[in-house]
Amino acid sequence: MIKYTITQFNKDFPNDDACLEWLKNNRWPDGIYCKKCQRITKHHKVSNRSAYACDFCGNHIYPMAGTILEHSATSLRLWFHAMFLMASTRCGVSAKQLQRELGVTYKTAWRMFKQIRSMLDEDIMSLLEEVEIDETYIGSRKPGKRGRGAAGKTTVFGMTQRNGNVIAVIVPNVQAKTLVPIVKEKVLPSSTVYTDELPSYFSLHRLGYKHKRVHHANKVYVMGDAHTNTIEGFWSLVKRGIDGVHHAVSAKYLQDYINSYSFRWNHRDDEQAMFLQILSRLVPSLRA
Ligand SMILES: [Zn+2]
Repeated sequence: MIKYTITQFNKDFPNDDACLEWLKNNRWPDGIYCKKCQRITKHHKVSNRSAYACDFCGNHIYPMAGTILEHSATSLRLWFHAMFLMASTRCGVSAKQLQRELGVTYKTAWRMFKQIRSMLDEDIMSLLEEVEIDETYIGSRKPGKRGRGAAGKTTVFGMTQRNGNVIAVIVPNVQAKTLVPIVKEKVLPSSTVYTDELPSYFSLHRLGYKHKRVHHANKVYVMGDAHTNTIEGFWSLVKRGIDGVHHAVSAKYLQDYINSYSFRWNHRDDEQAMFLQILSRLVPSLRA
């Protein structure tokens, strides 16, 4: 993946107008269709407004309309800078770090952080070929529950195609009736699935999957290709991020955080820099 430096950022986005220009050019790459003139016309920036006007009839268009930026009082460049910072490390940054770097209040930083994260959900339709399946427990702040072990932690279920995408969701428990339908919905039946010895997975072969189990109990972690190293790599990214960067996350927002790590994971080998990938999420037509 190409690295996108702060020098590059400052050059590409020196001010609000440059950010708005980027948004306009990416929303309407073939030019802006003016509803009044009923054709693609030239538009110019309206001074002191986040709008462009048709050269012929003066009709306004608003590049921020329908995006998370629409009703924000925060400057466009600060939003872009926040996305740059959130893309800049493997584990991301916290709202606290955004507050410090951007010089905004914690409330503003938190709101930006939450809204940028909300753009990073993904709708992965299916996984195939070799799919590793695993469950884990992630510490989160839940009212009224304290202590070690599963109590006070949230159960997360994950599936990853080797060399491919990951899907991870919060689940109420690890019973077969919870996990198996998720596998059935997302993993193609011709796939080989790799799991640990959790009895909940025993019925997978009846659904047509080739099922290989990793015998953690016998301390045989890797038998040939029967391993779950890929999904474990994803869990460690999520845990490093949540414990190390965010210092525990409220259970209410945990799925959102997991989605943003899934996004990073699924796009880690894309050619485009992570910042530009996050930025493209602002443009509905570039989301695919
Ligand atoms: Zn017009």
